[in-house]
Amino acid sequence: MQNSSLLEIDNLKKFYPITAGIFHRQVGEIKAVDGVSFSVHNGETLGLVGESGCGKSTLGRVIVKLEAPTAGSIHFQSRDITFIDRQEQRKIRRDIQIIFQDPQSSLDPRMTVGDSLEEALLLVDRTTEAQKQERIRELLGLVGLASEYADRYPHEFSGGEKQRIGIARALAVNPKLVVADEPVSALDVSIQAQIINLLMDLKERFGVAYIVIAHDLSVIKHISDRVAVMYLGKIMEIAPKQDLFAGPLHPYTQALLSAIYDARLHSDRQPILLSGDVPSASRIPPGCRFHTRCFRVMPICPKVVPVFAEIAPGHFTACHLYPACTPPAETSPTP
Ligand code: SF4
Repeated sequence: MQNSSLLEIDNLKKFYPITAGIFHRQVGEIKAVDGVSFSVHNGETLGLVGESGCGKSTLGRVIVKLEAPTAGSIHFQSRDITFIDRQEQRKIRRDIQIIFQDPQSSLDPRMTVGDSLEEALLLVDRTTEAQKQERIRELLGLVGLASEYADRYPHEFSGGEKQRIGIARALAVNPKLVVADEPVSALDVSIQAQIINLLMDLKERFGVAYIVIAHDLSVIKHISDRVAVMYLGKIMEIAPKQDLFAGPLHPYTQALLSAIYDARLHSDRQPILLSGDVPSASRIPPGCRFHTRCFRVMPICPKVVPVFAEIAPGHFTACHLYPACTPPAETSPTP
C-alpha cells in the first residue's frame, strides 16, 4: 500500500524578507522553511512534529499551494508543481486538500453547511443538482453527521462538529493527499480522539495519504506511519513511527520524547530539559542549528553543518554523533 511515491519534496525553502526604512530595503530574511526534503507515499500518514514556530505550518501551506516557495521543488505524482499558475493550482486542489486547525476559519458563517460543501464540489464536474445533493448527504454521513445538518449554519455546531464539516469539505473532491494542520489542537481533549479516529477510518476507506502537522507527540504517535521531526526550518530526523519512538537518534527528538515518556510511561525517568529558547529564524545558528540548545553538543557542532544521512533502513537524521552525518573535512561547509 505504501510503496509508490505520491509527493516528493526536494530542498524546499520559504524565506520572508525583512525590510526597513521608507524604501523598504531588505535587511534580512526569515528562513521559515530552509531546505526540506522528504517524500510521502500513496496511502501513508506522515506526522510532522516540532515546537511552534519551527516552520511546519508554513511547509504545509507551501505544499498545498497557498504560498509559493522561495526555492526547491515539489513533485506530485511525478509532476513538477513547484511553480504553477492559478488555473493549475485550482486543478491541483482536487488532489491536495488542507484541514485547518481552526475549523471556523474554513467555513463561511453566512453559508449553510450544504452550501459550503457545494462550493467545495465546484472543483469537480458534477452536473446535476440531484447529484450534488446526494454527494452532500453522503459526505455528511461519512463524517458522522446527519443529512439534516446541511441546512444549518456554522455557529449552530460545536468545535468537534465544525471540524467534521472541515474534513467533509476536504474530502468532497476525493483528494489523494490531505494536509491536516493541527487538526485537533483547538478541540476539547474528549473530542480529539474522535476526530483522529475519524481521519484514520477515512484513510482506510479511501486510501488517502495525510501529512498531519502537530506539536502534540501523542497525536503523532497515534496516527502516523512515519514521523518527521522539524526544528528551525529543517527536518532533524525522519523514521518509521516504531523506530522513532523506540530509538530516537537526534538529541532534539530525544528531548521531545523524554517529556511524554516521563509523564506517561516511565515516571522514574527525568525529562531532558533543553536550555534557552528557539533561536530566531532570521538568525539561524551556524553549523548544527540545534547546537545552542543541545545537551550533547561537541566542538564540531557549531562549525560544520551535519549531513542528513540514513543511519538505519528508512531512519535518517542529521547529527555529528553519527559518523555518516559528518562530511569529509575538505568538503565541510565553512561556518
Ligand atoms: Fe547536538 Fe551536535 Fe548533534 Fe547538533 S550535531 S544535535 S549540536 S550533537
